[in-house]
Amino acid sequence: MKKLSAYRRIVGDAIIGEIYHKAKPLYGRRIIHVNSTAIGGGVAEILSSLAPLMNNIGLEADWRILHGNADLFEITKKFHNALQGDTLHFSEIKKRVYLQANEDFAAYASLSNNRDVVIVHDPQPLPLIEYYKKRQPWIWRCHIDLSHPDPVLWEFLKGFIIRYDLAIVSHENYTKKDLPVRQTVVRPIIDPLSLKNMDINQRQIDGLMEKYHIPADKPIITQISRFDKWKDPLGVIEVFKLVREKVDCRLVLCGNMATDDPEGVEIFNTVKQNAAEEIASGDVMLITVESNILVNALQRASNVIIQKSIREGFGLTVTEAMWKQTPVVASNVGGIPLQITDGVDGYLASPDDYAGFADRIIEILKNPALKEEVGKAAKEKVRENFLITRLLLDYLDIINYELGNVV
Ligand code: UDP
Repeated sequence: MKKLSAYRRIVGDAIIGEIYHKAKPLYGRRIIHVNSTAIGGGVAEILSSLAPLMNNIGLEADWRILHGNADLFEITKKFHNALQGDTLHFSEIKKRVYLQANEDFAAYASLSNNRDVVIVHDPQPLPLIEYYKKRQPWIWRCHIDLSHPDPVLWEFLKGFIIRYDLAIVSHENYTKKDLPVRQTVVRPIIDPLSLKNMDINQRQIDGLMEKYHIPADKPIITQISRFDKWKDPLGVIEVFKLVREKVDCRLVLCGNMATDDPEGVEIFNTVKQNAAEEIASGDVMLITVESNILVNALQRASNVIIQKSIREGFGLTVTEAMWKQTPVVASNVGGIPLQITDGVDGYLASPDDYAGFADRIIEILKNPALKEEVGKAAKEKVRENFLITRLLLDYLDIINYELGNVV
């Protein structure tokens, strides 16, 4: 079982003490998290650490998954895209499928009885609040970039959000002026003791690379991301081609398939067609296995991590690589500039600046000393700001406030 005490050696006693102190008024309080997938993507990643640790410090935390079907996830992925700036053809049938899935789930999922706080993550389960007798604070935690939502969709979703007591977003720019609900900003985080981020030694890294047939004969550039157009895998391949003109290297695109993301297969196939030649020569490798320990090893074995997102709510993969002291070259969009200070603990480039991405990657590949310097600063930045202990403190403050406790 996850234990808070295990994090003492990483974050120090003061933070651990503060967490225990803030948890005191919440002993036995029943918190439920609801989202729409158990694996794949940042939300599942965070909840699989947050829920057990909340229990370890004395709360009764539960985590339920909205049982959607393929129709629902096709529609909610369109919603996700439209919240990030795409236009949406918003039909009555889409509304019906979305609401029906939530209503059906509410018919058997006990979220409201005997719960002190309900925390709903992202748009998929947002309408659940309509189908329960509200007896406690409900919090909507939105993990996506809300700065340019499709106006019609936003108007529709606002009808549900307005019933919540608090909306949490990942970036100050995502708070909404036209939303008369208390709003706060919470940064996503990583768990330094999870399989994905825990320390592993060189022998283990080499073993995993061998197991997944990733040769170590050339420098490796990696992007770890769902196959999603906002993560721009095709752009990554273009950048790779520019880099390879100057330095011989290999590109790994590692992307599992999240169960609530139906577009993955289609985008994977497009990438496969676009890079057919490089895939055949082994210079581009596409990996779709679902393995946290492989992600851990890849983030350590790579010479550079690229994150070429066009939009990015936060971008946990950036924090994960920074923690492992591997230099990251990433787009200056969404939550990424909150994590990277360009030239200090990583590198930023505009997503349409392919040459800029390539130049920075080449610079890192040619100067191994940079890796150490940038990596060290990156790890300290993450230790200070983006570890699970920080998130626990944020949630304890929020829950105490919602329940009227003064700590
Ligand atoms: N991830 C993974 N395997 C993959 C691709 C992604 O475990 O093949 C994880 C990744 O390590 C990170 C999360 O999924 O923890 C992605 O979170 P992020 O915030 O980067 O993007 P999101 O998918 O939530 O848009």
